[in-house]
Amino acid sequence: MELELNDTERMLRDTFRDFFTREIEPHVPAMEHGELLPYDLMRDMHRTLGLDAMLSSAGGRRERARDADASPDADADAGTDAGAFGLDANAARYARTTFTVEMARVSPSFTLSYGASVGLFAGNVLGKGTAEQIERFARPVLRIEKIGAWGLTEPGAGSDALRGMRTTARRDGDQYLLNGSKTFITNAPYADVFLIYARVSDGSEHGAIQPFIVERGTPGLSTGPPMKKMGMRGSPTGEVFLDDVRVPANQLLGGGVGERDHVKASLAVERGGLSVMSYGIAERCFEIARDYARERRQFGQPIANFQLVQGRLARMYVALSNCRRIVYADWLAGRPLKESLADVCAGKLYCAEMGTFVAFEAIHVLAGNGYMEEYVVERLARDAKLIELGGGTTEMQILTMARELLLV
Ligand SMILES: Cc1cc2nc3c(=O)[nH]c(=O)nc-3n(C[C@H](O)[C@H](O)[C@H](O)COP(=O)(O)OP(=O)(O)OC[C@H]3O[C@@H](n4cnc5c(N)ncnc54)[C@H](O)[C@@H]3O)c2cc1C
Repeated sequence: MELELNDTERMLRDTFRDFFTREIEPHVPAMEHGELLPYDLMRDMHRTLGLDAMLSSAGGRRERARDADASPDADADAGTDAGAFGLDANAARYARTTFTVEMARVSPSFTLSYGASVGLFAGNVLGKGTAEQIERFARPVLRIEKIGAWGLTEPGAGSDALRGMRTTARRDGDQYLLNGSKTFITNAPYADVFLIYARVSDGSEHGAIQPFIVERGTPGLSTGPPMKKMGMRGSPTGEVFLDDVRVPANQLLGGGVGERDHVKASLAVERGGLSVMSYGIAERCFEIARDYARERRQFGQPIANFQLVQGRLARMYVALSNCRRIVYADWLAGRPLKESLADVCAGKLYCAEMGTFVAFEAIHVLAGNGYMEEYVVERLARDAKLIELGGGTTEMQILTMARELLLV
């Protein structure tokens, strides 16, 4: 299935593909080997693609919606993007998904770091923060002047992040005193500002777990070195240590947020973005395998002639085609779709598993060459596996779906 694009949508896709292929791809090996951080490239990306203008207007829209005590819906978002780029609402929906697809085709780890900073840190401050928090903390991250991180996971609290959380925040006058540690936090080794989740020990009207905005340089906050990982090597991951960190009470996100709703909403946004990343990985891996099968000759003919190879490519295509329908669902429908949490989890579970499946199948089609760095699919396969773990493992998607679908 080819997506039928109008002239505007084709122009958007070509602009994104051209940018990521020409400006980001040449730097991928250096990022993967830890010789180059992704952040300067993110700044270039924002400048070149005009994203500063788009994101600052999105912020304004969300703020107005929140100030009017109305939650911004998908239409409002689409309208905002449309205003900034002169796009109609559906082209804006296409642009949002395709931007992430094209980024992930080239570098899932660049996408992960960008998503953690702009999506998880700035997006949460924009969505729930006070006007002052938005100006002071979200805007510099949206302009990539600063890098953000989102700190939920702890050494003893991964899947059971809320109940298992040990990091505490104790009110002391007009400050909170934070103690504890976080692990596996994207961007942590270099981030300027963190959203840290902590258990408020003296009771909160909103719920026990609350997010605090904490700046690097605050006494008592320190971070570990980048962790060595299977994949996503271009995305620095690390620990955060909090040792009697004094945080002004006005850095409690939004003055306090509804615990479960907030974490659920953050995870839903993250899971949607991760599904798109998996699709981008699958799309690139399928194309590499298909083109290779047409060119590679064995037994006097292209390996694409062999039915066993065709069967493998056909199964890869089934997965790709289904993922495409999921991640482009609202654009294909021509209107925003109200997805339930179960739908988001179903999409994330399926796309994540299929991203890994297609990437590893691509390695098999390329065989020895597929195992070599030069042919890209081995990196994409290693990166793909993270998406089955981050934002909640496959098991957590299943448990959430079961809760949403079965409990009355
Ligand atoms: C590269 C990378 C980047 C990350 N970035 C961030 C970040 O920016 N911010 C952040 O907060 N976190 C981040 N994480 C953490 C990630 O979200 C967690 O690793 C993930 O939620 C799983 O937690 P865990 O690793 O502690 O696994 P565990 O919770 O220990 O799970 C171990 C296994 O047990 C299974 N399991 C657990 N409970 C159940 C159950 N009830 N029923 C069935 N099976 C169960 C799991 O599915 C899994 O297979 C990142 C992780 C990685 C690897």
